[in-house]
Parts: sequence; C-alpha cells; structure tokens
Amino acid sequence: RRRVADRQAILPALTCDKVAVSILGNIEFPEEADDCRERGAEGIGLFRSEFLFLNAPHPPDEEAQFQAYARVVRALEGRPVTIRTLDLGADKSPVARVNGLQRHRVEEVNPCLGLRSLRRSLRDPEEFKLQLRAVLRAARLGDVRILFPMVTTLSEFRQARALVVQAAEELRARGDTPPDPLPPLGAMIEVPSAALIADKLAREADFLSIGTNDLVQYTLAVDRANPLVADLSSGLDPSVLRLIALVVAAAREHDTELTVCGAMGSDPKSVLVLLGLGLRSLSMPPQRIGVIKDLVRRVRMSDLEALAHQARNLDLASEVESLLRETLVRDV
Ligand code: PEP
Ligand code: MG
Repeated sequence: RRRVADRQAILPALTCDKVAVSILGNIEFPEEADDCRERGAEGIGLFRSEFLFLNAPHPPDEEAQFQAYARVVRALEGRPVTIRTLDLGADKSPVARVNGLQRHRVEEVNPCLGLRSLRRSLRDPEEFKLQLRAVLRAARLGDVRILFPMVTTLSEFRQARALVVQAAEELRARGDTPPDPLPPLGAMIEVPSAALIADKLAREADFLSIGTNDLVQYTLAVDRANPLVADLSSGLDPSVLRLIALVVAAAREHDTELTVCGAMGSDPKSVLVLLGLGLRSLSMPPQRIGVIKDLVRRVRMSDLEALAHQARNLDLASEVESLLRETLVRDV
C-alpha cells in the first residue's frame, strides 16, 4: 500500500502568483478514496456511483449503498465528497441490461440521446429516492454534496431537487433523521443546453461541475467511444471553449462553486486554458493529482489569463492546440 512519501503532494496547489487551485479526486469505487486522500486530493469532486450498480450481480439496496458512501466519507476525514447520482444508460447500458437495470423494453437506436442518466432517474423515482436516502444517511457523517448528471433543462434540476426533499421526508417518516441542512445540490454541465442556461442553473444550484467528456461529445456531435471519429473530438475547439467561458461567467455572477471533472481537467494543455478562463477547481483520477499540482505551481495566473484570451480568439482547435503545446514546452 502506497504511503504519503511526498509532502508536496498534500500541500495545496498555488500558482507562482499565489492563486489557489483546488485539486479533487474522481473515483468509481469506494476503495479508491484512500488513494485520493494519500495522493493529496482536497476532496472527492466526482464519485461515479453507477459503478456500484454495474459491477454487482443485482442493484445494491439502500443499506449497501449507504455503506459504500459512508466508507468514502469516512476516508476523506471531513473533506468534501461529491456523490453523483446514477448515470446509467448510453455507454453503460449493455451491462445494465445484464443485471436487470434496464426495465424499458425499447431498444434505443441513439442511446446517448435517449433515456440515460438523470432522465432515467426521474422516470424511476423510487429507485432514485432509494439512492438519495442512502446518500442523505451518509451525509450525516461528513461534508457530502449531491451532483445530478446530464442536467439538460432547469425543470429536470427542480424535479431532482424535489425528490431529494421527498427522500429526506421518507427518512424522517421512518424515524431516521436526515441531515439538516440538506446537502448542497449541484448540476453537471455536460450538454450544450445546460451551458447555455448556466446562469439559470447557477442561480438555483449550490454548485456546478463541467463534465467535459460529454460536453465535447454533445457539442461536436462526436461519439466519445467511437474510434472512427476520435480525431474529430477536441475540448480545445473554439465552440467548447466558448461554452466553458459562458459557464464560468454564470458561476461568477451567482457566486456558485464551479469545478471541471471531465478529462480536460487533468490534461496539461487543457488545464492551462481552463485556469486562464477562470476555473479554480479541478477534479481528476488520483494518479493525475501529482502532475497537475506540479503544473499549477509552475504557472502564473496572469499569464494564463492572457493565454486563454489569445486561445479564444483563434479559429481552429488545431491552432489552440499548437499555442498550448508551445506554451507548455517554452514557458512551463
Ligand atoms: C464527463 O462527461 O465529463 C464526466 C465527468 O462524466 P462521465 O465521464 O462519467 O460521463
Ligand atoms: Mg458525463
């Protein structure tokens, strides 16, 4: 088992001009939580809870889910833990069908545009509330935040929020005390519609998290899992950068916390532009934390702001890519 050998790992990440950047961990299984803490994560920015379902012979019940979430919360020793509610469907659906999660008989021709993620949870409120009750119970043990995946409209966010309130009432009705206040509720920004209404979401949500993997897929209409079009996918495309800039502005206006939890958040070139655009919180696989903290410590935020300004005015993803590559080689 790996021990904290490197003091640098657990120190916060400050740029040369002393701007703090929060570095959080992404996990899929509770066992990864210790690794995040030991590698210097300041919290969990994304716990992809669907993996508890995908790897089990049958869906975990409330108690099993509670145990899984509680384990993560305890491992983080008071640091924030962001639990994302079920993000099933699309790429994850073939396995879901095997263990009986796929209740709908229709074979989806375009599963990425179908009944996935929060849409699916809202269609099955009992299953959703079961998960929410488990999360609320774990929230009594630490700093838990609830993140809804693939929010597409404000209405979906409101429906999900109402179900959290209902889940808390259900706990109370059976003599179990829900946390008071209820945990902060966040929306993932991973479809263009959510980025375009980020001001409205930022007003109602307690925090936002940009899922760049899906945001890139849905913005450029490029299947993230299809190797035939992988070369057409770029988070550095001006269209994607514009959407991210919109979200940053909306979060600032409403003083709403904002994190990036997709793969761009741990890619060095993308990190330069994300910080320059105003991001101050990044969530990533634990193995990337050391590299990205090291990168943050070698840059000056004022330089990155100028760089992001320059990048946003370029026409092509390839030009942004070259600019960032040159900057990394020359200045960082
Ligand atoms: C994303 O889409 O960027 C994201 C973090 O969620 P996932 O990769 O689990 O779809
Ligand atoms: Mg996603």
